[in-house]
Amino acid sequence: MSTPTVDADVVILGAGSAGYACALRAAQLGLTVALIEADKVGGTCLHRGCIPTKAILHTAEVADIVRSAPGLGVRATLDAVDIVAVNAFKTGVVSRLHRGLTGLIEQRGIRVITGVGALKDPHTVDVDGRAVTGRHVVVATGARPAMARGIEIVGHVITSDQALGMDWIPRTAVVLGGGVIGVEFASAWQSFGAQVAVVEALDRLLPFEDEDASAAIARALRRRGIAIKTATSVSQVIEDATGVHVALSDGATLDTDILLVAVGRIPNTEGLGLDRLGVTMEGGYAIVDERCHTGVANIWAAGDIVPGPQLAHRGFAQGIAIAERIAGLDAPPLVASQVPHVVYSDPEVASVGLTQAQAVAAYGPDAIVAESQTLGGNARSLVLQTSGMVKIVRVKDGPVVGIHIVGARAGELIGEAQLIVGWEAFPEEVAPLIHAHPTQTEVLGEALAALAGKPLHTHV
Ligand SMILES: Cc1cc2nc3c(=O)[nH]c(=O)nc-3n(C[C@H](O)[C@H](O)[C@H](O)COP(=O)(O)OP(=O)(O)OC[C@H]3O[C@@H](n4cnc5c(N)ncnc54)[C@H](O)[C@@H]3O)c2cc1C
Repeated sequence: MSTPTVDADVVILGAGSAGYACALRAAQLGLTVALIEADKVGGTCLHRGCIPTKAILHTAEVADIVRSAPGLGVRATLDAVDIVAVNAFKTGVVSRLHRGLTGLIEQRGIRVITGVGALKDPHTVDVDGRAVTGRHVVVATGARPAMARGIEIVGHVITSDQALGMDWIPRTAVVLGGGVIGVEFASAWQSFGAQVAVVEALDRLLPFEDEDASAAIARALRRRGIAIKTATSVSQVIEDATGVHVALSDGATLDTDILLVAVGRIPNTEGLGLDRLGVTMEGGYAIVDERCHTGVANIWAAGDIVPGPQLAHRGFAQGIAIAERIAGLDAPPLVASQVPHVVYSDPEVASVGLTQAQAVAAYGPDAIVAESQTLGGNARSLVLQTSGMVKIVRVKDGPVVGIHIVGARAGELIGEAQLIVGWEAFPEEVAPLIHAHPTQTEVLGEALAALAGKPLHTHV
């Protein structure tokens, strides 16, 4: 008996940020959509990434606020962090968003097909023996934790997937990898009372951020008691009854309850059939043009399987743009440097646009001016007891090309920065905008005023 086929205008493989955003927009534009998902709609971001980590980081922040309460005149003591209750809070947030998303997908008339899919030909996805055909196929199968060479994920050697399911708080933790995921877990575990060390092979934390931002976050984390070893790699990992023993390239050994391996994420493209159909693949990534088209028939790709920053909002934007292009609309290409980055550690790190080094490489050393201001003199930051910095990079007599912020709530401040960079505003144009007082946004205003030649609070 032949299995029935499903026909749609758009067949989407993977219902994470990129896939479901594409599905919602395509359905909104009147296209019929089949959305294939092996696990749960929402993907990594909702179930194993952005949302559960941010829920945990929020409880970590609350723990720190309680600790600091007596210093602010509020009598309170932190009895304990109840990780079972923390997990219940996290699961509650995820479940609510999952219910909302499932309802929205259903309401838009999107056909969800559960199963593992692979491309049979440019218009057909085979889902566990069932053919799903479409005029267009969008591949958005996401990524999974990368393994570190010679380190097996077993026992108390874990990735972020297992870390999010832990029902105990480690007394000690070693985080291998000083990227976003590593820094966020290090921050949360330290707030929960663990003694944390971060080991990074490169010479600084968050190596894709501006060097000053990397230096500021390293200073702030060290002040919080987190040990940081950069330019250091792990040579051996042994687990026995006493814990995990992590031998480092500098000869030291760290004995720890848990080792989190956070060394990046690799695209889920094996077995999809993309290479067989002629899609160019590099290191497991699907190569696409600026429209997210693979160059083969009507096959598109988006999200973490496409080279670039692996961020939910990038995948989201790509998915929406693909749907619009399929519907015949003229969606402009995504400008990679205008995708904001936020690290939700304490303090937060947020940026948009070029780092100073990237700007110098793009425009030449004499064409770039940078202005840094600390949050130290900002009234609102003082009240919030946060320190950090704002750095703005501009082209001489030209637009702002990058803004970098470290401090509490930096992830919220980046919205204004994004408008400035996205609109290629000159400091002279935006410096006159009035910022509410007292807010942290005043630091942005101060740095812009300095770049426009009118610094007010700067000591001379
Ligand atoms: C711990 C952690 C924290 C993060 N925090 C943030 C953050 O704060 N902000 C941010 O922007 N980004 C964050 N990210 C990154 C973000 O989660 C990803 O960039 C985003 O989820 C990528 O979306 P995607 O649609 O490309 O893939 P995914 O969300 O991974 O979705 C892909 C989907 O495809 C399905 N799939 C895979 N193969 C098949 C197949 N063959 N057949 C059927 N289905 C398949 C998978 O089950 C999955 O549901 C975080 C990631 C992690 C791991």
